[in-house]
Amino acid sequence: MQDSPLPEDAEPPGPLPVQASSSASGLAFDTPYEVRIPFSPILPHQPATAPPRRPATKTYRPRFVTSERSERFRERFYPATPKSDWNDWRWQQRHRIKTTTDLDRILRLSAEERAAIERHVGSLPFGITPYYASLLDPDESTQALRRTVIPVLAEYQATPGEAQDPLGEDATSPVPGLVHRYPDRVLFLVTGLCAVYCRYCTRARLVGASGEGSLKKHQLEAALAYIESTPSIRDVLLSGGDPLSLDDERLDWLLGRLRRIPHVEFLRIGTKNPAVLPQRITPRLTRLLKKYHPLWMSIHFIHPDELTPEVAEACGRLADAGIPLGSQTVLLKGVNDNIETQKRLMQGLLRIRVKPYYLYQCDPISGSAHFRTTVAKGLEIIQGLRGHTTGYAVPTYVIDAPGGGGKIPLFPDPVIGRNGDDLLLRNYAGGTYRYPDPEGEPGPAPCASD
Ligand code: SF4
Repeated sequence: MQDSPLPEDAEPPGPLPVQASSSASGLAFDTPYEVRIPFSPILPHQPATAPPRRPATKTYRPRFVTSERSERFRERFYPATPKSDWNDWRWQQRHRIKTTTDLDRILRLSAEERAAIERHVGSLPFGITPYYASLLDPDESTQALRRTVIPVLAEYQATPGEAQDPLGEDATSPVPGLVHRYPDRVLFLVTGLCAVYCRYCTRARLVGASGEGSLKKHQLEAALAYIESTPSIRDVLLSGGDPLSLDDERLDWLLGRLRRIPHVEFLRIGTKNPAVLPQRITPRLTRLLKKYHPLWMSIHFIHPDELTPEVAEACGRLADAGIPLGSQTVLLKGVNDNIETQKRLMQGLLRIRVKPYYLYQCDPISGSAHFRTTVAKGLEIIQGLRGHTTGYAVPTYVIDAPGGGGKIPLFPDPVIGRNGDDLLLRNYAGGTYRYPDPEGEPGPAPCASD
């Protein structure tokens, strides 16, 4: 596929035709873009039956929405960059902020952040797209989003129970790039490159290492050969790194090869790009992805502040392409570890057509103690969502068991006990209810208060 001379989402040179809203309709920021067209008040002779005047206001929709916030940010920190470049994902990817010198231009680093960045070597480097940088608080180092992408010195303090590879993925890798832990599905780690590097990443040992490379062609072929020769594999999850870091040609080739394997029924992509590089979701990409249905996507979101007009546009495009969207969120201390933040995030995701899927207990990667909450905190959050908001907005809370045990869901237990033939249950508001269950197993005696 050849690149066009102009980026696909470049600002058009002139007015665009009016388009119906295709995504995120109903959101305040989905209001069409209004352009006023001036008319000369001095008109020549007006016949009595003059045709109706053209309306003085015409409505256009730009190719990719730009929020006021990122527009102000671009004008202030990238004044020489046209909007067409800003909205080009390749420009965003090439201009990631990777040094303290770059960061000093746009925010005030704390001494601790500066020391942590300057100390860093090896994998999980520091990197942020200019777009995502526009969401960071320039002054407050404890801001939720800022904590997830700017290193702090606590990253270098390993504590008991932590590991470089807490999920034991390397031990279940039959060929480089593949993790085969569950019988009918594989994880295909196609690249180590991410648009933004999350400081709590489970694959901190891999991502951004060795010059941010993707798998070489011969490595991809070896992984494909393993999948082809293993008929029990019916589901392939592309992950990394971020698979949407691959350009369209490579992604098309890879998805095409996977789709040709008869026993592969189902493809999934795990990505954070719609949240940190929404410009990546171009019409060309969605056309490409549509060819490989059934294809599902899990999108990594952390905080409601990520739900910008750009992100709504990107998710709307994916949803319009018929791709079912689910979210994955890591529970992080001081970032999203309270009911109110999680409720805003989950409700906001539904508004942009993403079903909250998993809430993960943070994996015990080396140097993650400052991010990890208690398990009781996760259960408290689920308790605070279940029944208090739409059921679709309640994700499944899971621990990915250290050592390769797989995902284990955790639920607040609503069963209080039994009373004779009745099961005693507590509802979301704390009320106790009986359910006739005469043939049920005898359970624990009810509490005195019941
Ligand atoms: S985007 Fe995913 S793979 Fe990349 S650093 Fe974040 S959590 Fe890790």
